[in-house]
Amino acid sequence: MTARRLLLLGAPGAGKGTQAERLVRKLGIPQISTGDMLRAAVAAGTEVGKGARAAMDRGELVSDEIVIGVAEERLSQDDARGGFVLDGFPRTDAQARALDAMLERMGTPLERCVALEVDTDELVRRLLKRAGIEGRSDDNEETIRNRMRVYRDQTAPLVAYYRERGLLREVEAAGPVEEIEKRIEEALS
Ligand code: AMP
Repeated sequence: MTARRLLLLGAPGAGKGTQAERLVRKLGIPQISTGDMLRAAVAAGTEVGKGARAAMDRGELVSDEIVIGVAEERLSQDDARGGFVLDGFPRTDAQARALDAMLERMGTPLERCVALEVDTDELVRRLLKRAGIEGRSDDNEETIRNRMRVYRDQTAPLVAYYRERGLLREVEAAGPVEEIEKRIEEALS
């Protein structure tokens, strides 16, 4: 049996979005990316967008309150009942605990956390490349450095959180996308 309630954990540039898209196609489950949802909210000028914009532009985390609200609303939609792949949420201990609580309430606990491991030089290289291709406003060098620091200080500790709960699989995420995809597939079986 393949796990279907999934979380991809990894630094900015580790390939969470790319691999999440592949899981979406393969498993027919939705990708839930708080980064994508927040960018859409900023573009639409909603209250959530207004509350998120400044932190995003600096490469800092948007408040737990805003992000937890966005994630909860998305997870409670019908298409997430048969599974989901979380990408970029949770990013703090408080978010991880809120996620556990909401999934427990829904009777659909997380089944697997896949941590994508890539060394820092490779991450910076990938992010600068993406900046040239996608033109994301938070892909400049200073913001990238800040996002790395934020990841190390606030999000990396979640690896231990999910290890303690027996949900963690660590996957070496350097090399061709297809090979990484295969490793993830094994990690989910
Ligand atoms: P991402 O596309 O996942 O790299 O997210 C882009 C930016 O959105 C991050 O640098 C944060 O400012 C914000 N963001 C996305 N997800 C979260 C989250 N779970 N908690 C706090 N901020 C977030």
